[in-house]
Amino acid sequence: MVLMISAQNERPLSCWRAKERHENRIVECLTIIFSTLGCAWNKCLMCSYRHERVASQGSGTTQEQHLLSQLSWVLEHHPPDEYEMVKIFTSGSFFDPREIPPSVRQRIASAFTGKLIIAETRPEFVTSDTIVPFLEELKEGGNRSTPLFCAMGVETSNDAIREKCIRKGFLFSDFVDAAKCAKKCGAGVKAYLLMKPLFVTEREAVKDMKSSIRDVSRHADLISMNPCTVQARTDLEWFWRQGAYRPTYLWSVLSVLKDAPVHVTCDPVGGGRKRGPHNCGTCDNEIVQGIRDYSLTADHDLILSLMELECGCKNEWEFILEQEMPFCMPLTR
Ligand code: SF4
Ligand SMILES: [Zn+2]
Repeated sequence: MVLMISAQNERPLSCWRAKERHENRIVECLTIIFSTLGCAWNKCLMCSYRHERVASQGSGTTQEQHLLSQLSWVLEHHPPDEYEMVKIFTSGSFFDPREIPPSVRQRIASAFTGKLIIAETRPEFVTSDTIVPFLEELKEGGNRSTPLFCAMGVETSNDAIREKCIRKGFLFSDFVDAAKCAKKCGAGVKAYLLMKPLFVTEREAVKDMKSSIRDVSRHADLISMNPCTVQARTDLEWFWRQGAYRPTYLWSVLSVLKDAPVHVTCDPVGGGRKRGPHNCGTCDNEIVQGIRDYSLTADHDLILSLMELECGCKNEWEFILEQEMPFCMPLTR
């Protein structure tokens, strides 16, 4: 189906195809990042997506037209019969009506009926008013019991880390409430975790992810862990340039996955590079590829065998885990 919206279709910010694991199967997935007016929160220390926003005035084109034109481009270049899953991101929240007006959301749902949709949003936009109509439209013509997963970047179950090191602006209880609401409406829940934000040591980062996976798995059906990367034009980049931040070691990522009580997917974006999770440069490629393979296959033995790899940097990582000290921030004013 091609929506006849605009003679000149606008491209989304990004759109690509890849394999994903879902319910013990490997499925073809289309990922779309829609260009919108941008994130309503706009304050997270590590986020550069928030800078990606279209101007709301000037061209005579409405926000609805911008979005429908992007949808039209997607359907033309990626016909829906070629994939089963669609992951939808914006430069903020899919269920924020300011970013994606409800009429456009319904058009997106009708374009992808029968598909499995994973849509990212902040928890405050998960309400029955936003979820139910979208879900009902998605179910038309399809027979999936759960065609929608609300994906939320809860990042950690530790409120202090989320507030002081990420500046995310919501509490773990807000995520839990939104997860309950999504489930009540008949949607599933996906949680994104952020490994090693600013101001935590390597040891604290590992501990935080291990406890977060345990806590989040009580509320989320799917968990994806993102090792933090240094994105351009962020507060995190400023600290990184001062030598005050290092992305996590890939050894740490492995150690978290090794002990996870549930399957956690992980795509180490920027893996092996100085702005992404990295070891010494010699062992990185094999570990990054192994983590990607594990995300698809859920083969826990693969993680165990990667942990057994011999490389000189493993001693360095063990030393850092033991000796790195936290920066102290004043607890009072
Ligand atoms: S991480 Fe999400 S909530 Fe935070 S500023 Fe970026 S887009 Fe907004
Ligand atoms: Zn190494």
